[in-house]
Amino acid sequence: VSAIKESSKRVPVTLLLCLLALFLVVPDRLQAEPDPAMVSAERDEIYALLAMAVVYKDWQRTKQRGHNIGSVLIDPAGKPVFWARNARYITRNGTQHGEVRLIRNYLSCSDDREFLGEQTDVSYPGAIPGHGYTIYSTLEPCVMCTGMMTLTRVWRAVYVQADPEYGRVPQRLGHDASDHGGPDPYPQQFPMEQVVMEEAAQLDEAYQAWLQEDSITAFLRSPQAEEIYASADKRLRTYSSSMENAGSLAAAIRFLDSVVDAKFLATPSEDCPD
Ligand SMILES: [Zn+2]
Repeated sequence: VSAIKESSKRVPVTLLLCLLALFLVVPDRLQAEPDPAMVSAERDEIYALLAMAVVYKDWQRTKQRGHNIGSVLIDPAGKPVFWARNARYITRNGTQHGEVRLIRNYLSCSDDREFLGEQTDVSYPGAIPGHGYTIYSTLEPCVMCTGMMTLTRVWRAVYVQADPEYGRVPQRLGHDASDHGGPDPYPQQFPMEQVVMEEAAQLDEAYQAWLQEDSITAFLRSPQAEEIYASADKRLRTYSSSMENAGSLAAAIRFLDSVVDAKFLATPSEDCPD
């Protein structure tokens, strides 16, 4: 009889514990539901840090290879597929900006890579019609690079540091002056935006102080810029991401360590993705 009494006392206690557990676990699960905007902002930060780390890996204190500017190409599945740095000195060619080298060398990898965005041909792995490739660049793209991105149908571009003089190209191309006899906006456009992260703000601020003295490319050889790039490299390697971006983070670090291994890609086809 006493055993029955004991177990009947235990039932409400067990029930209470179950309810308490539900109360603790369920709201936690609801909170863990990722905010898509947060996830995509974090992913932008990871790949922007990757672009900076690619540049930092062959940091130029003097004019050897080119300027300290570079970019990475991310496929629609979120996988880094190609990288490039500015190489205007080593090539003695002023067109050899990071983004030009990125697009031109990537497209020369294979005939399948005719366009970078809105592909209808899904023979290339990860190509989703309507969702193309994103370029992450360390400096706001110039008119040449933005033109190239426009005509190769890059889906989206993200940059770290603003270029107050040579930047804002999409805004300039999109400007409608037809009301007062000027040109219509350029017929093709794509989104380009500055990433929101501490290194972007630090570079913009440091360059504002430098602007009166010299050019943005000279600033990018300065110890101030080098320090910001060094901290970006370190931050990527010690980044603590949400669960949703764990794969992107691991892929970015793996790409940096195993694919970005040359100072200058004289034969870029060797770095073509499989
Ligand atoms: Zn450029």
